[in-house]
Amino acid sequence: MPGYHGRVDPQKLASSLRSGDRRAIARLISLVEDENPGIKDVVRALGPLAGNAYVIGVTGSPGVGKSTLAAALVSAIRREDKKVSVLAVDPTSPFTGGALLGDRLRMQEHATDPGVFIRSMATRGHLGGLAWAVPHALRVLDAAGADVIVLETVGVGQAEVEVAHAADTTIVVLAPGMGDSVQANKAGILEIADIFVVNKADKPGAGETARDIEQMLHLGVATDWTPPVIQTTAESGAGVDELWAAIERHRKHLESSGELRARRERRVAREISEIALADLRLRMGEPGGGSDLDELARGVLEGKLDPYEAAARLEKRRAIRSNTGKRSTSARTSVTPTSKRFPLSP
Ligand code: GDP
Repeated sequence: MPGYHGRVDPQKLASSLRSGDRRAIARLISLVEDENPGIKDVVRALGPLAGNAYVIGVTGSPGVGKSTLAAALVSAIRREDKKVSVLAVDPTSPFTGGALLGDRLRMQEHATDPGVFIRSMATRGHLGGLAWAVPHALRVLDAAGADVIVLETVGVGQAEVEVAHAADTTIVVLAPGMGDSVQANKAGILEIADIFVVNKADKPGAGETARDIEQMLHLGVATDWTPPVIQTTAESGAGVDELWAAIERHRKHLESSGELRARRERRVAREISEIALADLRLRMGEPGGGSDLDELARGVLEGKLDPYEAAARLEKRRAIRSNTGKRSTSARTSVTPTSKRFPLSP
């Protein structure tokens, strides 16, 4: 977003963040959302990550009651006096500023609680999109002292998978009668769920939906954690304490099996590779940006070289450029919109 450039004071923001300053948290999430280059220095200023926050991913189709459930879960967590952040990620509407989620009515009851931070985040979809933005936002919330982060997202294909990658415990929410259990099976949701929730248990068919999922789970390969299927009525809060207990059980299971550490290691490895890939993509230039990439594309189209050779040449030119004077972007590519957004050159 224009206006942020040159006004980020990383040290100041980092120390405000560490002391839990809500405006600093909000500002930093905006920097992530906008893919602002200043975020890099803030992350650096934050230093080694405390890694205290436990991340709960909540995903499922629109309308199943994720927001309502997240709000009810926050109440359960607050009863234990833990600090909680809710990050609602909206991968589907890059231009709405995430207005669709998170700031909803249900969350209003928590809006004045100093132990709760609520924020929605849209993704611009450049340079890695969710895969880049989510770990950064989680890092910010963690550094700000959250004990628990509820990461809520609209369940659409890739977003569900990204949530599962970023979360310690992934909850897949279904509602009775929507044919969701069958869809879940098809979409490979059985694999990403650590816990299933059948919400709207006050409606007919909830028990049936729960049994469907349990049956599908029985047919699958046995593992040392069988996802429990919990029925909730998020509107009244019924079943939510049971859900929180299941999350705690899953956490203990992950801790005792060493899987928590392994999951977090995989998460950071993905974060590192996303940063490296974003950097690489930037240096290569964007199609249509007047860079080497376009020149090579013309060569392939005209039959002068094949795409593998073109890719090898691109990489070679990039290597030469970064060795000579560390100029990561040529004069031509430096005027592309991407490099203005996200100049990650070393
Ligand atoms: P999301 O799109 O998955 O975040 O769903 P929302 O939390 O916005 O809920 C969608 C609709 O379902 C809203 O009208 C809620 O009031 C309603 N809803 C949520 N939980 C329940 C529930 O447990 N029972 C019933 N009957 N309705 C619910």
